[in-house]
Amino acid sequence: MGYFLTREAFDGVVAELGKRFRIFAPVRKKGAGRFTDTDVILYDTVRSGSEIVLDAKSDYAFKEALTPLSEVLFYFTEANTQAASFDDRPILIFARACDMHALQRMDQIYLCNGPEDPFYRRRRELVHFALIGCSESFPNCFCVSMGTNVAPEGWLFSVDSAPDGCACTVPDAGCAPLFAAAAAREIDAAPCHVTENKVRVCVPETVPAAVRTHSLWDEYTVRCINCGRCNFVCPTCTCWSMQDISYTDNGNVGERRRVAASCMVDGFTDVAGGGQYRRKNGERMRFKVLHKIYDHRQRFGNDMCVGCGRCDDICPEYISYSNIINKVYDAAREG
Ligand code: SF4
Ligand code: SF4
Repeated sequence: MGYFLTREAFDGVVAELGKRFRIFAPVRKKGAGRFTDTDVILYDTVRSGSEIVLDAKSDYAFKEALTPLSEVLFYFTEANTQAASFDDRPILIFARACDMHALQRMDQIYLCNGPEDPFYRRRRELVHFALIGCSESFPNCFCVSMGTNVAPEGWLFSVDSAPDGCACTVPDAGCAPLFAAAAAREIDAAPCHVTENKVRVCVPETVPAAVRTHSLWDEYTVRCINCGRCNFVCPTCTCWSMQDISYTDNGNVGERRRVAASCMVDGFTDVAGGGQYRRKNGERMRFKVLHKIYDHRQRFGNDMCVGCGRCDDICPEYISYSNIINKVYDAAREG
């Protein structure tokens, strides 16, 4: 059972939820796209349902609501450290099915890959989700191939854009009265999901060692400009590095920040003595791709990539990650 809400009623529900949660949702930033007069859709705090983009894929993922691009962890002086203040209000994030799967990947990395990350854990405890249904497949999506087109459980309510309003399902008992009171009528509803994408990939079950030195990677040494944009839009890229910012000349007073990192940019694999493990862009591409469709599965049993296609959408060199997966599949069959 579900509810049909007019747009105004949905606005009211979101405004009411805003009293309980900080709400993050995809919003359209007019004229802020990469070309003149183009928009970008990214996550920001919202106060009204009308701000939320329900009918287009966001260019950036929700992950910054959980793992900010730059976060001060603590301040230090010569003898002491003090934890940075932390906004502990509950968070509600509007996300699509693929992103709900991406959340599972983030949990695997931050909570199940050795000791738990306490900074992730403390914010993760505060986060709740609302599911945005997908009535159609967007450009470059390949969620069906990756098995992420149907959302896992764990969301409070779902919302699908409908003519003149929104169709919602509300499994959460705490939210149900709010929707029931705002609804124009009860409906038989379930969150929409796609069953087909134009883009399809075949993920190899195993990747022979020969694929790691295959010539297919050379193309990306030439084409990729190691800008790192594919990492920053990806909901499952979780790498970060530490920065100590000194306030004083002696370096003994300052702050430690965690900042997002990219395996595609210069410096990521620098080591003492001027060494660098992956100098060529093709080597970096190989690492990224195999990490997402092979290495992660060896450790956790599922692929890291959830097929959102955002990396294909954003790449300034029109490099298609889904094409690369299919090339790896072909190379793996060659043995
Ligand atoms: S966005 Fe494209 S060009 Fe930039 S690092 Fe990723 S693959 Fe390379
Ligand atoms: S690798 Fe590309 S398609 Fe896969 S989850 Fe990341 S951004 Fe989405």
